[in-house]
Amino acid sequence: MSFYNSNDSIFAYMSKLANETNATNLSQGFPDFPVSETLIDYVCAAMKAGHNQYAPMPGLPALREALSKRHAEDYGHAYHPESEITVTPGATQAIQSVIASAVTPGDDVVLFAPAYDCYAPMVEAAGGNPVWVHLNPHDFSVPHQAFADAVNNRTKLVIINNPHNPCGTLWDEEDIRVLIDLQSKYGFRVLADEVYEKIALSEKGFSSFAQYAQLRPFTYLVYSFGKTFHATGWKMGYVLAPALLMSDLRHFFQFAVFSVNTPVQHALAKYVAEADYDAISTMYRSKQQTFQRAMEQTKFKPLMTKGSYFQLYDYSEISQRSDVDMAEWLTREHGVATIPVSVFYPNPPKDMRYLRFCFAKNDDVLLSAADKLSALQ
Ligand code: GLN
Repeated sequence: MSFYNSNDSIFAYMSKLANETNATNLSQGFPDFPVSETLIDYVCAAMKAGHNQYAPMPGLPALREALSKRHAEDYGHAYHPESEITVTPGATQAIQSVIASAVTPGDDVVLFAPAYDCYAPMVEAAGGNPVWVHLNPHDFSVPHQAFADAVNNRTKLVIINNPHNPCGTLWDEEDIRVLIDLQSKYGFRVLADEVYEKIALSEKGFSSFAQYAQLRPFTYLVYSFGKTFHATGWKMGYVLAPALLMSDLRHFFQFAVFSVNTPVQHALAKYVAEADYDAISTMYRSKQQTFQRAMEQTKFKPLMTKGSYFQLYDYSEISQRSDVDMAEWLTREHGVATIPVSVFYPNPPKDMRYLRFCFAKNDDVLLSAADKLSALQ
């Protein structure tokens, strides 16, 4: 029997339960390995150099320039540092700035379920109507017909999380072609939450929506330094958008936030220019393999994961408990905390038997979790 109450974020709830029960915490998505010493040294140096007062509202120019350059190298399009990039206190706040500035009361906003937990509450806070499209059962691919049925002239925004949390899926060429067709027909804007862009697990890597010239004039792209540089507690992110959309966004942002941590922006400006992004994906691929191999001794069955540091497992051969009960029971009785998938739906389909495991952990932690789960036969 679960005590989970949906007023609490599932991440906060499961992490608290893991701490109370001393369980291995593969639930909330945060790494347990350190931030780069170099990056920490850059932050200390910036503080000691006296960079401790307000930064300019849209972000430090040096950081915006570094981001523009890196993005152009990675995805072939340079967003203008002056008018098309804003540094935010984490991706969550970037998402809020997009929604609050794009959505007016009565607008429809299309969301794909399962959906990251902050989208729907933020849409509702802006007076928008969430219009839900369920990803296909079992492989969580994009249902083209259901997507087409959900959009119309009232659709103001479509929110897409790619790579996807919790499923680890990617939008493929065909999905993006359908999106482009529908966008050109109805003129909605797109919020692409790409916080896991640098955790590409498949051979094909990751394609940003920024690579599609037809989408760029209508698309906001959201990123998180917390995810990319294993520093989730720093709450640093940024948003890219064409100047017209960005101007509206800054209108909201300047009174909601005004500006973001100055010394950390100085440090990131240097670090973004030199960081080895390929090494990040390589490290996570190795972690995914370590975890998947270790989990082969259990009866959990992995789903395909192409991006993010999450891996879904099907537990239907082990138990018919609901996923919320299963997550709680596994934490209490077997010492491993995970995240149930049904909580990311407004009305979850019946009989969902998937749990999300975060593998952004030291290898010994991953091996010990799999060992504990191997007792369940
Ligand atoms: N994004 C993280 C996850 O998916 C959690 C962030 C949070 O706790 N709000 O686990």
